[in-house]
Amino acid sequence: MDSNYYQRIEQGVCVYCGERKARPGRRMCPQCALKATDRQIKRNKLYHKLRTAAGLCIHCGVAKADEGYVSCAKCREKDSKCNIERYHKAKGETV
Ligand SMILES: [Zn+2]
Ligand SMILES: [Zn+2]
Repeated sequence: MDSNYYQRIEQGVCVYCGERKARPGRRMCPQCALKATDRQIKRNKLYHKLRTAAGLCIHCGVAKADEGYVSCAKCREKDSKCNIERYHKAKGETV
């Protein structure tokens, strides 16, 4: 990051485009924030696709995913219990 980055934060200017005002308490303007989220989603989807195709854990992308899972045991353990419960609830299953 260049020194402009911090200057922009101080000035309340979007760190991304440096043109528009950043949202209060944020570092990016609404337009750039939207674009960033869009990129993030696209990237996540790409990783997800590549990793599932390769049979790798979608979280770390290093370990092999367990049979019937999209993630490895390590990452599943790391995932908070509440996440797992939510997942099962969303699928209409009981744990
Ligand atoms: Zn911006
Ligand atoms: Zn993993």
